[in-house]
Amino acid sequence: MTAAAGRRQAVFLDRDGVLNEPVVVRGQPNPPDSVDTMVVAPGAEDACAALRRAGFLLIVVTNQPDIARGTRDRRAVDAINDELRDRLGLDDVLVCPHDDADGCACRKPRPGLILEAADRWDIHLGDSVMVGDRWRDIEAGRSAGCRTVLVEREYDEGRATGADLAVASLRDAVPWIARQHRNWEESTMVEDLNVKIFADGADADGIAQLARNEAISGFTTNPTLMRAAGVEGYERFARQVLPCVRGLPISFEVLADDFDEMERQARKIARWADNVYVKIPITNTSRESSEALLRRLAAEGVKVNVTALLTVDQVRTATAALAGGPHSFISVFAGRVADTGRDPVPVMREALGVMAPHANLELIWASPREILNVVQADAIGCHVITVTHDVLKKLPLLGRDLLEHSLDTVKMFYRDAVAAGFTV
Ligand SMILES: [Mg+2]
Repeated sequence: MTAAAGRRQAVFLDRDGVLNEPVVVRGQPNPPDSVDTMVVAPGAEDACAALRRAGFLLIVVTNQPDIARGTRDRRAVDAINDELRDRLGLDDVLVCPHDDADGCACRKPRPGLILEAADRWDIHLGDSVMVGDRWRDIEAGRSAGCRTVLVEREYDEGRATGADLAVASLRDAVPWIARQHRNWEESTMVEDLNVKIFADGADADGIAQLARNEAISGFTTNPTLMRAAGVEGYERFARQVLPCVRGLPISFEVLADDFDEMERQARKIARWADNVYVKIPITNTSRESSEALLRRLAAEGVKVNVTALLTVDQVRTATAALAGGPHSFISVFAGRVADTGRDPVPVMREALGVMAPHANLELIWASPREILNVVQADAIGCHVITVTHDVLKKLPLLGRDLLEHSLDTVKMFYRDAVAAGFTV
């Protein structure tokens, strides 16, 4: 079988056991009965979104022999397919309704469904990937000339052999599949990042929503954002968001300018919950250093997030004060450094070097201006980047295929021109 030599790249996805949980009876996987009992596999939605961003078409190729056997209604099969298509953003779903006795060309391990999709969608099979949970899927992918990924499940049947990759779930295969894309050199995936992303904001609904996003590992807030969000009672706001963040780190800032009052507030804020970090500015508004306060709080075991640092000397001061204390963060405002026309990367790299001997300290890249900063922070080994909700909205663009992105830009101009009713 020769590989179709179209232009586009696809991920061909088996359905039951890859996109949704199979119903295992006596060691044998079966499809769910109906759309109501269908459970999407953990991480499948994020995985499909990531693969789409990487530039792949997503096409389901599924054997449904129960249709030929008369034990399942075609409409029930289609209802599940429609639901998955909507939820996962699938481009196409191809179904083989036959059983072995039909001798069709489409029942996997035969590659008929993959070849039909390749023809329909102008797909280059040699640059495409088949993902399945059974030997029939791997065989079909290999016969079609695709690379293959086995999602390993505990079934009572011979294990598939010959797959290029074996993983526990579709989600685990995403970084490997993404690297198979021709434009991979230009792209980075959220899943590949080591830097932890904290969401910076003060909008309680936004925080609750982001707490469900696996890409977010913590939260920061500040009085400026809270004011912009119209927050009135500080502690009430904190008590409202704390139950939403599932124990992830969250920082609340002291509101005073004299150090005694800051200390009183810090102790109180720290008692709100174990995952709370108290934000202490590196100086007060009279340029007086917070170093002594930081030392006292560290000695008491109060976890802090020292904030508003812009120089490496300030990082040295904070590091010395917090060394040997509880886990704490040091926030360097790289974006504000960049706002002055200076490259923040050397500053952040040097800050990491200063903090490196102290395992209790993590550096936060604060005030990023664009998604590029996430990649820069990751590249230098910065521990955390705290991103405002506005910039976070662009996170799905990370690593996006540039030709697809170009096309969207063209469409936007055209749409707006039409909407404006301009004529030449
Ligand atoms: Mg399957």
